Amino acid sequence: MSDYKLLIGGRLVAGASASPVLNPATEEPVADCPRASKAQLDEAVTAAQAALPAWSKTPIDERKKVLVAMADAIQANLQDLARLLTQEQGKPLQAAMGEVFGAAAFFRYFASLDLPAKEVQNDEKGRVEIRRKPIGVVGAIVPWNFPLILMAFKVPAALLAGNTMVLKPAGTTPLSTLKFAEIVKDLVPAGVLNVIADENELGAEMTKHPGIRKISYTGSTETGKRVMAGAADALKRVTLELGGNDAAIVMPDVDPKETAPKIFNAAFQNSGQVCIAAKRIYVHESIYDAMCDELAKLADAAVVGDGLEQGTQFGPIQNKAQFEKVLGYIEAGRKDGKIIAGGARKGDKGYFIQPTIVRDITDGSKLVDEEQFGPVLPVIKFSDAGDAVARANASIYGLGGSIWTKDTDKAWDLAGEMESGTVWINKHADLQPHLPFGGAKLSGVGTELGEEGLKEFTQVQVLSMAL
Ligand code: NAD
Repeated sequence: MSDYKLLIGGRLVAGASASPVLNPATEEPVADCPRASKAQLDEAVTAAQAALPAWSKTPIDERKKVLVAMADAIQANLQDLARLLTQEQGKPLQAAMGEVFGAAAFFRYFASLDLPAKEVQNDEKGRVEIRRKPIGVVGAIVPWNFPLILMAFKVPAALLAGNTMVLKPAGTTPLSTLKFAEIVKDLVPAGVLNVIADENELGAEMTKHPGIRKISYTGSTETGKRVMAGAADALKRVTLELGGNDAAIVMPDVDPKETAPKIFNAAFQNSGQVCIAAKRIYVHESIYDAMCDELAKLADAAVVGDGLEQGTQFGPIQNKAQFEKVLGYIEAGRKDGKIIAGGARKGDKGYFIQPTIVRDITDGSKLVDEEQFGPVLPVIKFSDAGDAVARANASIYGLGGSIWTKDTDKAWDLAGEMESGTVWINKHADLQPHLPFGGAKLSGVGTELGEEGLKEFTQVQVLSMAL
């Protein structure tokens, strides 16, 4: 019997089945997780449909109060949620606390927004107003790298706009999301937010479910394509936040000692399992050796271990499949370049890998061209800035990118040339709730966060009257 429950129609219920969630640091079970059946997904959708008329007509100020109460509840349970997040996801406790706190902050941010009707005409000829209405039942599908913060990209925005929801975390990291459901259960009217868990099969059912009107999906590009195809028949709205292969371009005027730690953090936070991690570093030839040496020093000094242990900087890879994939990218690095730090599994229990730096590698290697999504970083030499931007752009992805230089005017111009949803200058992976976030090319469709992200959870309605 699991300690965790699904939230369907305002009630905490057992799953049709249950299976363990493993701690990636120990490979031991954290807890049994309830797993919903297709029939329970149907119940969740029916409950969300039943709750829609009242919730969509609830004044927005009341909906804001619910979001604030949810934020308060998340914060009040920060320690428990963070500990659970570390146990199932692997990240260090401090980072898990940051994620939980961030999730609460995102609920508060959306509670500060409005969706006012816009009058565009009111004269002797007529009156026209543009309104933002809810879409209906939203299906939210979340991956395993940031279960709570990525949930908080979706839930408060969808609910503020007057939609009701079915939320599904990833099969390997469901527990903190189920705990969140338990914490907020009595703060939200029954059926407005339903939370189910699966082993990995209900996402596809959600995308084609006739009762769901929009899918908000975060995860890999390959699965994102399946989401779009699954949503096509019912012409559901989709927002897809997908993979990335962010390039960081390091110009000759930076000080390697000062810049390397920033690049290192951008690449290795969450053990590289970040959609907007810096995943390929293009360094000018004049500082290439110095930059590689600094990065290798940082990698050698990094403390990798169980996220619950004090002093751990980097946790394990979240799951076995991804762990094996990352080891494959390390082998590609060994074949196509030179490993100057890390390069192997750490220990024989838990999915640990020491941060790995690969130099003397270039475009065309699988480690450079694909998304490694783990702690192995290729460092590539360039001689001409325009060429570096062209190589950064020669990717199917276009999520983020960064330029590092003291010449901020030049950086501003170069940044505009980059084919990505966000370009940072002298920083990387800086997400803010008020800034729209989305990918170019195969990194996604649509945006989340900011007013733009909120609007994606609405249907435009024009009222037009002749006088
Ligand atoms: P994934 O696509 O395997 O799984 C993500 C979610 O999709 C899980 O909840 C899973 O159960 C569900 N799912 C699986 N098959 C499905 C299907 N056919 N239809 C609908 N849903 C389905 O992705 P992942 O491996 O868990 O996550 C890693 C990827 O996510 C990386 O590529 C990373 O870059 C990307 N990511 C992107 C962002 C972003 O905002 N752009 C953020 C975080 C992660």
